[in-house]
Amino acid sequence: MQPLESILCESAKRHKHLCPRQILGARMALLAGEVLGLELPRADKCLLIIAETDGCAVDGIIAATGCTVGGRTLRILDFGKVAATFVDTYTEDAIRIIPSDQSRSLALIQAPNARNDWEAMLLGYQVMPLEDLFRCQHVGLNRSLAEIIGKPSKRARCEICGEEIINGREVLRNHLVVCRSCAGENYYEVLGGVPKPRWRTNLKKQVSVR
Ligand SMILES: [Zn+2]
Ligand SMILES: [Zn+2]
Repeated sequence: MQPLESILCESAKRHKHLCPRQILGARMALLAGEVLGLELPRADKCLLIIAETDGCAVDGIIAATGCTVGGRTLRILDFGKVAATFVDTYTEDAIRIIPSDQSRSLALIQAPNARNDWEAMLLGYQVMPLEDLFRCQHVGLNRSLAEIIGKPSKRARCEICGEEIINGREVLRNHLVVCRSCAGENYYEVLGGVPKPRWRTNLKKQVSVR
């Protein structure tokens, strides 16, 4: 295991500064490694992490584990919680870790000389015992691991929008193979017109002003 200090150093580099939630991310990942018996950081796909928020904590998790979105070993399911589930992809053991209800108030006690709450959390979270900092649950995933990971070699084409779908993410609706957007999970609506590169017009404006 890498020492916490060097993990936080790497995380802070990625994040441009160190903040309390990066420490939570890093320490929850180290705890997960201990509980699952996995050496960290990892260069393989033995560990899959499902983080329940984006942002600061995830940078700590990445620095501690080596798991990344691009490496398909880290997923974000944005529930707005500084929580994450760590899955051993060989044994399928899964544990979910979330900061304890008292983590914030205990951090303030740990760092009585801090200038404000933020600094108290920054200092306290680094030294607090893990059992005070986190609540750890053994969980079962409600989709199979194979389904979550998907099929990297698979390609399909949506029979409604015609766009390609990879990783086996297509779904069947009314006997049609469709993408999740066309199945009703869309997060956007297509507006008219083709987007034009805006920087060129800005550049022209700047030049003409001079
Ligand atoms: Zn931050
Ligand atoms: Zn579609």
